[in-house]
Amino acid sequence: MLDKREFYIDGAWVAPRDGTDLDVIDPSTEEPCAVISLGGQADTNAAVAAARAALPGFMYADPSERLALVKRVLEVYNARAQDMAKAISMEMGAPIDMSLSSQVGAGTFHIENFIRAFDEVDFIAPLGDHAPEDRIIKEAIGVCALITPWNWPMNQITLKVIPALLAGCTMILKPSETAPLSAHIWAEILHEAGVPKGVFNLVNGDGPGVGTQLSGHPGVDMVSFTGSTRAGILISKNAADSLKRVHLELGGKGANIIFADADEKAVVRGARHCFNNTGQSCNAPTRMLVERSIYDRAVETAAEVANKTRVASAHESGNHMGPLVSQAQFDKVQGLIQQGIDEGARLVAGGLGRPDGLNRGYFVRPTVFADVNNDMTIAREEIFGPVLSIIPFENEDEALTIANDTPYGLTNYVQSQDGAKRNRAARKLRSGMVEMNGKSRGRGAPFGGMKASGIGREGGVWGIEDFLEVKAVSGWSNEAD
Ligand code: NAD
Repeated sequence: MLDKREFYIDGAWVAPRDGTDLDVIDPSTEEPCAVISLGGQADTNAAVAAARAALPGFMYADPSERLALVKRVLEVYNARAQDMAKAISMEMGAPIDMSLSSQVGAGTFHIENFIRAFDEVDFIAPLGDHAPEDRIIKEAIGVCALITPWNWPMNQITLKVIPALLAGCTMILKPSETAPLSAHIWAEILHEAGVPKGVFNLVNGDGPGVGTQLSGHPGVDMVSFTGSTRAGILISKNAADSLKRVHLELGGKGANIIFADADEKAVVRGARHCFNNTGQSCNAPTRMLVERSIYDRAVETAAEVANKTRVASAHESGNHMGPLVSQAQFDKVQGLIQQGIDEGARLVAGGLGRPDGLNRGYFVRPTVFADVNNDMTIAREEIFGPVLSIIPFENEDEALTIANDTPYGLTNYVQSQDGAKRNRAARKLRSGMVEMNGKSRGRGAPFGGMKASGIGREGGVWGIEDFLEVKAVSGWSNEAD
């Protein structure tokens, strides 16, 4: 069993000052695979002190030095891709091939995009010709607490750590205690890339412990959090007393509106997307809204996709679906499937229990419910498992009303060959992102939500600017420039 009890503070691996042991469980086997330490107040304080001490040197350095640093991080990250993929598979159950291509790949994608976006950030710029002695300076917010979940570990860590570095912030990362192994390798990568001591610190811990200590800490200027809406609310309240900036990437309950004139692959694509990463994605299209005239066929097709989805260990090669992350997620998903049945939705694929032949590991059956109405629990709650709810609609207005009738507003999806109809839908959907006809958003597009899905945007220029303060200066000397 791996011993990963140490924290990375002030440029070195150190023993916990105030820690308690926690086993990391491999979700494919339900066996402990590593032990970490959950830190306490003394560990949090040490990490915050290191980040504060490192701040002036880092934030006032030439921005080009930070860009060079991030380029070195990318090189070392790519060199460690195999180790990283194995760690992610073991800690959260992404099948090994998918772990390398999508989980690790998401990190590469974001680092490269931030390197590109960096050129577009004006750290100092004139206000305009009408005010020649004015400058708008953008400077680091300061010490940032970065709190991340377990479902896309490197996606979420790179979306926070890289822009914070580019902006000149110093930071404390608290990764999910459920999936801390990839973050440990990430700290090794940053060390090898030569990140100055104190700029990046890693402390493991849970929400009530290190998470709460960080969000309330007077030495922290900003909290950037990805995870549940529940924790996002607690963090906002706890951060309020010290008036911290709070950035939140929270849950979702995306609608995928499939009009009768959608392309023939739309239903298959939507169902597969819902099951990707065992349904554990905040932007999963979990409510499939289908126009009545193609409804019966769509239900059949989605059920076929579920029935054909192979479920197996994360350590096996192949394009199957892995287990859920934990016993808690397994229980939650089982409970919601039961609730779907109890509330009268029609189960057309999957259901309760593990898939045949799997009696150990947090494996669940890819599940499809038809005849769901938008008031049912399975249509309202983020399930975070491979459970698709299909809802019929009669016309465009009704589809948009159902799609927007949710507390969430992260990503919605539209499938139609009619360009004008697509554009109308894109304007009216209340979500931070709208993806249409299976086209991914382009490099550098901002990621984030409205309503209960969060505050702020990650990725590209928006992602870097979220870590910057804006300072307006008058009386600037043009001679000294
Ligand atoms: P969570 O929100 O409880 O945990 C995410 C991170 O926040 C972890 O690092 C955790 O230790 C920390 N945390 C928890 N409570 C905190 C608090 N009060 N203060 C500070 N930090 C805190 O999420 P989870 O338990 O891992 O998953 C629960 C649910 O959250 C899932 O079922 C899913 O619905 C949702 N979720 C959403 C996303 C997303 O990307 N939107 C990601 C993971 C989980």
